[in-house]
Amino acid sequence: MEFTKSICPLCKTPIDAQVNIRKNKVYLRKRCRDHGGFEALVYGDAEEYLSSARFNKPGTIPLTFQTDVRDGCPSDCGLCPEHKQHACLGIIEVNTGCNLDWPICFADSGHHSDGYSITHEQCARMLDAFVACEGEAEVVMFSGGEPTIHKHIWTSST
Ligand code: SF4
Repeated sequence: MEFTKSICPLCKTPIDAQVNIRKNKVYLRKRCRDHGGFEALVYGDAEEYLSSARFNKPGTIPLTFQTDVRDGCPSDCGLCPEHKQHACLGIIEVNTGCNLDWPICFADSGHHSDGYSITHEQCARMLDAFVACEGEAEVVMFSGGEPTIHKHIWTSST
């Protein structure tokens, strides 16, 4: 249906990708020169996907950037000055530890031997950077890991 840019999930090299529709589902297909082809379901209802295009609008550039353009996307992530959209949602990962032990975790959280918990000062710097980028930031989400086991977030009343 259209072409876009993506990255190889293994080596992170930017590659061309196709957005294809089959049996009313939307798939992203791409091929890395070194790691072969990949295809993933990205939307379960192609009609809904197409009709959501009416909500597309031009991106809004952030007020400041945190990194320089040096090695190219996605290696310069910061946001870098090549980025064309401000951060709609700020996410602060307060820790990497988790006590839930679910078999699948999109954040790859768990009992990392090299895990971390951020300090108040680090959190303040992150919030300041977010506000500097956004001006009036609308939403920030504290994530992890499992944020409720961070010693500065959850204090039990029992
Ligand atoms: S911040 Fe820069 S490197 Fe990261 S995704 Fe945006 S354009 Fe790519």
